[in-house]
Amino acid sequence: MGIPSRPPARRKEARGDFPVATCGRKTHEGEARPEHAQIRRALLNWFRANARTLPWRGTGDPYAVWVSEIMLQQTQVATVVPFYQRFMQAYPSVKSLAQSPLERVLELWSGLGYYRRARHLHEAARVIWREHGGDFPQNYAGIRALPGIGDYTAKAVLSIAFNQPHAVLDGNVARVVARLGCLRGNLHQPRFRESVEASLAQLLSRRQAGNFNQAMMELGQTICKPRRPHCSICPLAKWCAGHRSGNPEAYPLPRPRRAAQLHHLAVGLLRYGKKVAMVRGLGDGLLDDLWNFPSAFGRSSAGALENLREKLAALFGNHPDISARHGVSLQPAPLAEFQHNITFRAIRGRIYQVTPSPFTLYKGVHWFELSRLPQAAISQLARKIVQKISRL
Ligand code: SF4
Repeated sequence: MGIPSRPPARRKEARGDFPVATCGRKTHEGEARPEHAQIRRALLNWFRANARTLPWRGTGDPYAVWVSEIMLQQTQVATVVPFYQRFMQAYPSVKSLAQSPLERVLELWSGLGYYRRARHLHEAARVIWREHGGDFPQNYAGIRALPGIGDYTAKAVLSIAFNQPHAVLDGNVARVVARLGCLRGNLHQPRFRESVEASLAQLLSRRQAGNFNQAMMELGQTICKPRRPHCSICPLAKWCAGHRSGNPEAYPLPRPRRAAQLHHLAVGLLRYGKKVAMVRGLGDGLLDDLWNFPSAFGRSSAGALENLREKLAALFGNHPDISARHGVSLQPAPLAEFQHNITFRAIRGRIYQVTPSPFTLYKGVHWFELSRLPQAAISQLARKIVQKISRL
């Protein structure tokens, strides 16, 4: 691991895709250094004294570790905790999850986002139940063969639940490693990623791999934050070249941001008494597992409205209650407007009243009581619309 033991004389940083320059000195990837043992000890002692109490910690149950790791992908710990607790109460074992209908799993996941994770979790539980007799696989190949489990999750489960010597690299850990050694680059650059992985592998505690990985993640989340890291209370400050450089925030390089794209969305509100019409998916292949208000995207608000008319016509085409253009009666003045972001999409939405509402169970259309929608498997966007229309 390339963690300099002396303060850098002069900062010389590589740019572009050569990230292994370290505050004035090049590292030798995989180089074992005497301070590694001290860093490991300091890190593990700090973790023992400061680890947050989290519901998935200390169970040693690979199922619990797996669920938590999947939920924590792209999601903050504080957001995950209540979802995790509800989920584990409903599904305390692989068997209970495998035997549940997907719809119920999605309902419990609703609000956590990235719903493909829930579908994969459910699929993988079925595979574990069917092909492994309910026992979580204990080797890398077996875990990687499960739906939705990549390199990171497989190593996290193997190290945390079974204490196998795998180093786990996520964004928080990469930040700590990059700052310790002044490694410059971002994780999307293969050479930078390789150098961080090599450094981390040297640092890994092979005897306490699970605790080591959790300690590194915890340090990145609570002390070595992206902005204003708390170096004054960091257990690794003594060995940290980034800290000594005076500008630890310079490491690693920020991830290049994808520019937000503006999308217009027209949403049809079809009401019948206390019920509203919902369909699966939002359009453009988005949120396909979840219930949404019938909607259509367009390059402009007028284009989205036109596309919505066509979508409704396809859904309710020949219904005698619908008579206007394309067979759909749609009030052209929007009832309300909203904004919502889904990853890089900046969505500008308008909600339109569709009248009269046909109360007919057309294929793919489901009528929900508006007051019960928040408990259904609906998207965050649909949740936002429910709040809007409840105030109308
Ligand atoms: S000393 Fe500062 S920059 Fe270095 S690992 Fe600790 S918090 Fe991060």
